[in-house]
Amino acid sequence: MPQNHVSGEGVRIVDIRTDTITKPTQAMRNVMAIAEVGDSVFGEDPTVDKLERRCADLLGKEDAVYLPSGTMCNLIAIMVHCNKRGMEFIAGDKSHSYLYELGGAAVFAGVQCSQISNKPDGTFCLEELHRRIQPKPHLCSATTGLIIIENTHNMCGMVLPLEWIDDLAKIASKFKVPLHMDGARIMNAVVQSKVPAKRIARDMDSVFFCFSKGLGCPMGSVLCGTASFVNEARRLRKMLGGGVRQVGIIAAACLLALDEMIDRLQIDHDHAFRIAKAIDDMHSDIVRVDLSSVQTNMALITFDSKFVTAKEFLEKLAHVSQTDSVQVCVKGGFINDEEARFVLQWEVTDEDVSCAIEKVKMVIVRFIRILNEGAKRGLCHKLLPHH
Ligand SMILES: *Cc1c(COP(=O)(O)O)cnc(C)c1O
Repeated sequence: MPQNHVSGEGVRIVDIRTDTITKPTQAMRNVMAIAEVGDSVFGEDPTVDKLERRCADLLGKEDAVYLPSGTMCNLIAIMVHCNKRGMEFIAGDKSHSYLYELGGAAVFAGVQCSQISNKPDGTFCLEELHRRIQPKPHLCSATTGLIIIENTHNMCGMVLPLEWIDDLAKIASKFKVPLHMDGARIMNAVVQSKVPAKRIARDMDSVFFCFSKGLGCPMGSVLCGTASFVNEARRLRKMLGGGVRQVGIIAAACLLALDEMIDRLQIDHDHAFRIAKAIDDMHSDIVRVDLSSVQTNMALITFDSKFVTAKEFLEKLAHVSQTDSVQVCVKGGFINDEEARFVLQWEVTDEDVSCAIEKVKMVIVRFIRILNEGAKRGLCHKLLPHH
């Protein structure tokens, strides 16, 4: 097998694993250098205050608190709303809060997750939600303290339909169970749907979004809600060790991102669609994409794992031999045998996208060729060579 010479000269690397890898823009670095700062735990950092005020207004909530990560936003929201050990929150079985936060709610809050099956578009069945809610203390069942929804959804980047959110909010309010939106990428939803964040989050008791993803900042998420919710969130932030002091130096980048990085998300959405369209145009049965699901900066690619697994495909995408006609290393995000994810962000240019498309096409053509040769020889099982 030829050497992978990805680090070699002339090889372009297109990293579309995720949007958390974004580095700050030069403009961000400039404002960071001159940011006014203070002790933000004491409420004395003017840049953080300004950021929190602007985010609260943007999301239509009374107040907001700047936290180090989205994971801490979800954990603190769960801790405030489910304020007794042994309670539960309801969330999708493919939600970030259930799958990717190490069971923090169980560890730190004594709260369990009741998972409701996610549909491919990030919603779930509202009748099932209705059946599941346990609004009052019960002899056997845990009390439901919170419902979490995710917009856009981290697995597919799809935007929750507004009517679905409105219907869900009616159920939540009927049972008086609070609603939290994990809006890590709510700005992608805003740009795609052209609905203001305020409206999307109207019926949410709490909502947060991440600055560290498509918006390009080095860290931080802002959690918004009522004044009393945010007061309690501030106490818990300190308890969990999230009280960062002169963090205005980073909040300055976030303020700039609110001005300069939101509208441009459309470019990432267009890029994701271009790649997805190129795959769809190949009409391959083994590597597929549902174009109607490509709404924002993500494309979910599905594989017929009998013939090629996501891992095998991604390995080929990232591998470059000296003899390859396309000298491009594409790094995609692995989900499972059947699924991979491409996530676009500001550092990926038009030209990067064109190059990534060439590479993706080349790899698909190669897989199809291997399969056809195998089929000719009468092989019906897994035909692909291992590396
Ligand atoms: C990334 C992400 C989070 C967590 O944010 P971190 O800052 O990485 O902790 C939460 N929810 C969703 C949907 C995410 O995509």
